Amino acid sequence: EEGRPLVRIVIVGHVDHGKSTLIGRLLHETGGIPPEKLESLKAISARRGMPFEWSFLLDSLQAERDQGITIDTSQIRFRTASRDIILIDAPGHAEFLRNMITGAAQADAALLLIDAAEGVRDQTRRHGYLLHLLGVKQVAVVVNKMDRIGFAEAGFRAIENEITSYLGDLGLRVSTVIPISAREGDGVSANTARTPWYTGPTVLAALDGFDAARAAQDLPLRMPVQAVYKFDDRRIVAGRIETGSLSVGDDVVFQPSGKAAQVRSIEVWPAPAPADAPRVLHAGQPAGITLDREIFVERGEVLSTPANRPHAARQIRVRLFWLADEPLEIGSQVIARLATSEVRATVSAIHDVIDPGHLSAFEARSIGRNQVGEIELTLARPIAADPYGVNPRTGRVALEFGGRIAGGGLVISIVERELAAT
Ligand code: GDP
Repeated sequence: EEGRPLVRIVIVGHVDHGKSTLIGRLLHETGGIPPEKLESLKAISARRGMPFEWSFLLDSLQAERDQGITIDTSQIRFRTASRDIILIDAPGHAEFLRNMITGAAQADAALLLIDAAEGVRDQTRRHGYLLHLLGVKQVAVVVNKMDRIGFAEAGFRAIENEITSYLGDLGLRVSTVIPISAREGDGVSANTARTPWYTGPTVLAALDGFDAARAAQDLPLRMPVQAVYKFDDRRIVAGRIETGSLSVGDDVVFQPSGKAAQVRSIEVWPAPAPADAPRVLHAGQPAGITLDREIFVERGEVLSTPANRPHAARQIRVRLFWLADEPLEIGSQVIARLATSEVRATVSAIHDVIDPGHLSAFEARSIGRNQVGEIELTLARPIAADPYGVNPRTGRVALEFGGRIAGGGLVISIVERELAAT
């Protein structure tokens, strides 16, 4: 439907605190699950002598996906009263944290789930910290399994205080804290008589209160180049407009090379009649363009306007979350990925390491698994980069180490030229 705001959310929290159960419930209560599907899953559970689990819904959707059918569980959709919600990246997904830090999962908002009987755990704090680090500003906390503590208000308030103070110390404002039982259905689409002391929003109401992404269109133009295709005598520069918009006739530059040209045409496939050819592209759209002159540009460069271009960075300061078992040390060699560019990089300094479980910074020469630190990366060659505060889309970095994504975070600041050797 046109006009319904689209909100991309993640559901995070300690394993087993009930994320899959809540998702199953949400899908069911928003009408996303055919009744016969639910019945057949309940029948299978009964046949096997197992209690029905809402998380089976997710597993069965996942199984269908593995067979190439219907639903992509990495992008579950449902609707609230006035929003379309896309749930990015199902929990339990092995690549979940990696996808979050690489920005593959760019969420507008998040639900942070806590088991009422287990309380706030280190993993809860880590996930909260990640939301902060990734700039997810809208967070609702869901205290699940209230049935396990007899729907006691005191237990709920203790968790509410602990988590809001932790997230508050990070500067993250919690929109609401909601007591629920995902398994039994309290607080998801309706509050029940078992929480008479709670008058706040349900989970669905909280989701309905989240705002859609800030219009990426209002930011300056950035189009990271994915590929350059040659057709006959034409070169088509392909990418995706991350922010801003682009029109035929615009003067553009590519960073870091600094090469300049004018946009001659916007290419779409199949080619429309000339009168219908698009003249402008907006944030979020894939783009293929031709230029008015032959310049050599390649994957990794970022197209912008001449007046507002990304830096040609030689060194970047990154606030980093580290996931690998092996610590990151001064002198470690990594591959830094920013938008579509990839570059070898060396860790040249480490500052302010913290353990998100405790939030106190300490001096360290390495960053261990699940720790956060600010590092300086010296790049093997200049690449286009923006500070995160200037452009959240192009201001993120993922680090590959030992052949896999091992960390990621935000570009805090940029040095354009290599510092003189001392
Ligand atoms: P996830 O690892 O966070 O996705 O957790 P799951 O959704 O798989 O749930 C873990 C276990 O907690 C399952 O056995 C669920 O049945 C159980 N569970 C989930 N929600 C509730 C709840 O509201 N009350 C109780 N008592 N158990 C729940």
